[in-house]
Amino acid sequence: MSQKISADVLICGAGAAGLTLAIELARRAIPFRLIEQMQEPFRGSRGKGIQPRTQEIFEDLGVLDRVVAAGGLYPPQCEYRDDGSVAVSDVVEIRPSTHAEPYQIPLLVPQFLTERVLRERLCELGHQVEYGVQLIGFEQDETGVTARITEAGQETVERFHFLVGADGGRSFVRQTLEIGFPGKTLGVRALVADVELEGFSRNFWHRFGEGDMSRQIAICPLEGTDMFQIQGPVALEGDVDLSAEGLTTTIRDRSGRPNATVTSVSWASAFHMNARLADRYRVGRVFLAGDAAHTHPPTGGQGLNTSVQDAYNLGWKLAAVLAGAPDALLDSYEAERRPIAAQMLGLATSLLEAAKAGSMRRGREVNQLDLGYPTSPLSMENPPRQNGALAGDRAPDAILQGAAGQPVRLFDLIRGAHWTLIGHEVEAGSGPDPRHNLHMHRTGPRGDLIDIGAELKTHYGLYSGEWVLVRPDGYIGAIVAAGALQSLEPYFAAIGLEMRSDGNGR
Ligand SMILES: Cc1cc2nc3c(=O)[nH]c(=O)nc-3n(C[C@H](O)[C@H](O)[C@H](O)COP(=O)(O)OP(=O)(O)OC[C@H]3O[C@@H](n4cnc5c(N)ncnc54)[C@H](O)[C@@H]3O)c2cc1C
Repeated sequence: MSQKISADVLICGAGAAGLTLAIELARRAIPFRLIEQMQEPFRGSRGKGIQPRTQEIFEDLGVLDRVVAAGGLYPPQCEYRDDGSVAVSDVVEIRPSTHAEPYQIPLLVPQFLTERVLRERLCELGHQVEYGVQLIGFEQDETGVTARITEAGQETVERFHFLVGADGGRSFVRQTLEIGFPGKTLGVRALVADVELEGFSRNFWHRFGEGDMSRQIAICPLEGTDMFQIQGPVALEGDVDLSAEGLTTTIRDRSGRPNATVTSVSWASAFHMNARLADRYRVGRVFLAGDAAHTHPPTGGQGLNTSVQDAYNLGWKLAAVLAGAPDALLDSYEAERRPIAAQMLGLATSLLEAAKAGSMRRGREVNQLDLGYPTSPLSMENPPRQNGALAGDRAPDAILQGAAGQPVRLFDLIRGAHWTLIGHEVEAGSGPDPRHNLHMHRTGPRGDLIDIGAELKTHYGLYSGEWVLVRPDGYIGAIVAAGALQSLEPYFAAIGLEMRSDGNGR
């Protein structure tokens, strides 16, 4: 195929996954196109819970404060019981933030506002979504992907190095590749609607009929808007009246409040809950990310978060391979992300069962801080470790002090597109040769950092002379002892951090 390459990457779909991937490529100056078949941004609130791990990622992407400002926190939930009693409780277990885990509480942000902030960030980086542009076919060969794209009735054929299907649960890319999507329909159909509503305070997430699928209804004020999100199970078959009148009737019937009135409906949908996982995330030069690779029930607020984290995992790997890293690096995407999605499907499905019984409690497992890649080919320990942080774990934050005396957060050191290697109490000037895209820091004699509160030592469980290598996506890639520094060289080669022959790094 001799056709000229239009851009390195074609991203199909501008939902949360496609936008995150676009930002990751944009901040690495990788040419791409981000196409979206809809004419304008999606306006539903659907994935409204932003988990603590995603908040850390949003901090790295430079959007966290804007996302917080756009939304807010979950209000307490207020459960109205059949015996007339009312129980008020927190939606999640509230834990104080720590230096190692600065974000502990999920945010409540309507998905359309989260996506708006991501689009704004993308725009700052010089890119935008191409709306009204649809992928209608593609073929791949050894050197690239040839895509057929339509825009305003015109079809063009374009060539890319890679294609990413971030095109949602019904993924055209997945279906074209004939990738299996096994799993099950969970026998639950629900309505979700964004409405303006009279008759309810905005101080609570109101819940009625818990444990009874024919009467359950949840009414949640949508932070950052004047609307409420209505959610409730509906009959598996038949039409659902999603008009203002129809939703008013449903809310009155299920809440017993005759004054409740829906005055307008911004977006509404009735959907069947599914738990499905794609058999493969990669076929040659084509990848799946987000709902295209996995669909979950909304219980536990995992879907959007898992989608953002897929893209965050894939983005730096695509950029590294486009810059010359071995192609095998891209195989680690499926190896790392598919088991995470399988775990999420189990969690969301078990929470759904609990919700049906009226006993859903969201614990630490929903915040996604404990997810990691311990069995990944990119996780290396030399020597193997028994205690403390392990290769593949999320890199904890820590407060250190710069040699100049200023406080330094470890998250500030790792923020950006680079790898970070930190030596704990290492000899002055020790470490591998410097190279492009690797930031090196040391504590100890003549170190640029002082572990003033021993947080680096304790959060990572380090012994003197050990080095921690943190990946661009904030996971620990490697931990090596002073005498094993040489073992980092093959690791560097696998991720594209090799020295150039002129000795200056790339
Ligand atoms: C009704 C509903 C309620 C939900 N509630 C929750 C919740 O409470 N919590 C939670 O975490 N998650 C929830 N989710 C899931 C969450 O919304 C998704 O996980 C998230 O949107 C996935 O993002 P994505 O970018 O992978 O896919 P999507 O957001 O689906 O984006 C895919 C995009 O690809 C575009 N596209 C498709 N085909 C093409 C093509 N051929 N060419 C160009 N563009 C194309 C689509 O138009 C779409 O905009 C809900 C989902 C639904 C449907």
